[in-house]
Amino acid sequence: MKTPRIGFVSLGCPKALVDSERILTKLRAEGYSLVSTYKDADLVVVNTCGFIDAAVEESLEAVGEALKENGKVVVTGCLGVRENEIRERHPQVLKITGAHAYEEVVEAVHEHLPPLHDPFVDLVPPEGIRLTPRHYAYLKISEGCNHRCTFCIIPSLRGDLASRPIGEVMDEAERLVSAGVKELLVVSQDTSAYGVDLKYRTGFWGGRPLKTRFYDLAKALGELGIWVRMHYVYPYPHVDEVVPLMAEGKILPYLDIPFQHASTRILKSMKRPVATEDVLARIALWRSICPEIALRSTFIVGFPGETDADFEQLLEFLQAARLDRVGCFTYSPVKGAAANELPNPVPESVKEERLARFMGVQARISADRLQSKIGKRETILVDEVVDEGAVARSRADAPEIDGQVFIDGATHLKVGDWAEVIFEDADDHDLWAVPAS
Ligand code: SF4
Repeated sequence: MKTPRIGFVSLGCPKALVDSERILTKLRAEGYSLVSTYKDADLVVVNTCGFIDAAVEESLEAVGEALKENGKVVVTGCLGVRENEIRERHPQVLKITGAHAYEEVVEAVHEHLPPLHDPFVDLVPPEGIRLTPRHYAYLKISEGCNHRCTFCIIPSLRGDLASRPIGEVMDEAERLVSAGVKELLVVSQDTSAYGVDLKYRTGFWGGRPLKTRFYDLAKALGELGIWVRMHYVYPYPHVDEVVPLMAEGKILPYLDIPFQHASTRILKSMKRPVATEDVLARIALWRSICPEIALRSTFIVGFPGETDADFEQLLEFLQAARLDRVGCFTYSPVKGAAANELPNPVPESVKEERLARFMGVQARISADRLQSKIGKRETILVDEVVDEGAVARSRADAPEIDGQVFIDGATHLKVGDWAEVIFEDADDHDLWAVPAS
């Protein structure tokens, strides 16, 4: 009998990628095989993103392409909550489910492409199926979010914060490390809130009690002997507690904290924490505890009501904070977001002009910060080896979103190797290095 074959399209953020990995792990465990072309698949699952309008359009197009090329399509992911919109454009879709509805997706696949049951064959490695390279993996610690930022619809798509028990998270982390993972990227919508919903309940890892709490998780992950990188950390005061773990080398000296803006007026209207002076003081504190800490953040320019003065305040913050890595987006209305009702939208041309100014200022800061690394020795992690040499990342660089380190001629290195290098040159975003002797 022929093995049923699944095609899978995974769109969106790392959290959606983790959902895709869970669904694939389950299907693979049931004997489905995974194929990489529409024509080889018996059915295609599309995991969609609904975060901004461009992502919605990309998702709808991906569903259309899968239908055209294959015909049997199950849709899941964030866009799934907007079922009518999908059905309107693609009425032939077999089933639509929302985000992290693993069971429902698997049931839909069973209904339209029954599994071949073979209980004697273990087809799945213990760490599950992963879509990232072998040497790094995303570790999702919770779903949903208790905040209600006015530009965001994630809480309506994914619900309130629901943390995974710490024992389960640590078991998964251990399995990943045993499978060769060298770097764990901790993701969620709000990593620092981990465990709030469970009232920091005590769980167990290897028989040892651990609280379901950001600090305890960071500390336990720090014992695994690999790189641990914290993403999507909300600037709560208790974040200060994990910085000493970075200074001690237990977890990477890296914090990804989306500040979004620096004007009190705009932060209030975004429903974000407002004390910008506190943020600057906190950054100074973190740097005093762990001087090598790399700070990454994201911002939105052109939010409704943003005046020239608000924008100047944002630039001043940027100059004062001197962050290492920064992403910036122009505000774009997301269907269903409360911010759509706010008065005084900023014209597109002004948004674009502010974005260009913002990125210009940050490029100079980033270039300066990278220049200060020249001559320093550091450990890097190799992501790719090409004809010209190795492409790696430093401790300050997350995959996909930050810079890279190029080591010309170092073709003796292998993907997933840690290596000692000395930084020799830099541009605005990337570094060049030579192997340390
Ligand atoms: S913190 Fe704000 S932006 Fe982030 S997921 Fe929660 S509501 Fe959305």
